[in-house]
Amino acid sequence: MAGSGLFVTGTDTDVGKTAVAVAIVRGLMRDGLQSGLRVGVYKPVASGVPTGGAAGSDMARLWEAAGRPLSLEAVCPQRFEAAISPPRSALAEGRRIDETLLRSGFDAWRNASDIVIVEGAGGLFSPLGETTLNADLARDLDLPLVVVDAARLGAIGRTLAVVRAARAEGLHVAAVVLSQIELSESSPADPASPQAIAIQSASDLAERLRPVPVTMLAHHATAIEPDLDWLTLSRPGGQHAVAPTPP
Ligand SMILES: [Mg+2]
Repeated sequence: MAGSGLFVTGTDTDVGKTAVAVAIVRGLMRDGLQSGLRVGVYKPVASGVPTGGAAGSDMARLWEAAGRPLSLEAVCPQRFEAAISPPRSALAEGRRIDETLLRSGFDAWRNASDIVIVEGAGGLFSPLGETTLNADLARDLDLPLVVVDAARLGAIGRTLAVVRAARAEGLHVAAVVLSQIELSESSPADPASPQAIAIQSASDLAERLRPVPVTMLAHHATAIEPDLDWLTLSRPGGQHAVAPTPP
C-alpha cells in the first residue's frame, strides 16, 4: 500500500490549504492509530519562511500534525524568505529552485509512508519553479488532487474553473474542501452570511461535481465535516468507493 498520496492544491493562495491539509493529516492519524498508519507530509517548496524560524510555518504545522515523521528538512527541502512566488523568492536570495529536488524530495516519503499528504504552494497553476507549475508536479508525482477554496462568495465559480482546468490537464480531482478562513459574526439564518454562503456553495458544488465529494472545514475547526475516507480517495479509482456526501 506504500506510495499513495494526495496533492492538496487551491484555487488561489491564502484559501486555507494548510488548515485543510493539517485536518486531513489529523483525521488519518486518529483513524490509523490502531493500525499504525504511517502518514507522510511534504511541502515541495515554501516562500515567506524566515531563516532559522520555521515555527508556525506550513511545514512545521504539517510535521507536528503527522507526529514529527522523518525531519523538518524532509518535509520542506527548499525554503525561501521573501513571501513572493518561490522562483522569485529564490532569485531574491541569488538562488534557483532545484526542479529535480521538487520531485525527488517526495521519494523519502513514498518509501516511509502509507499515505503522503502533499501541500502545494499557491494555486494549481502557480509556479513552484521556473518551469514547474503545481499542476506539473501533481502530474509527475501521479497524485489525485484535493482542491481547496475559501468558503466565501464566488466559491462555485472559482472551484469549477480549477476543477475543469485540472481535468483538462489530465489530473484527477479526488475531493473538494471549502475552508472557512474568516470568523463569521453574522447569523447563519441570514442567506448572505458567510456561513450560509459556505453551506449553499458546498451543496451546489456537490450537485455539479458528483460523484466527487465536497466537504467543509469550519473556521478554526480541527476536523473536516463530513470527513472523508482519505486513504481510499488517495488510491487509483478510489473515488468510486466513497459515497457522494451532500453537506
Ligand atoms: Mg499553506
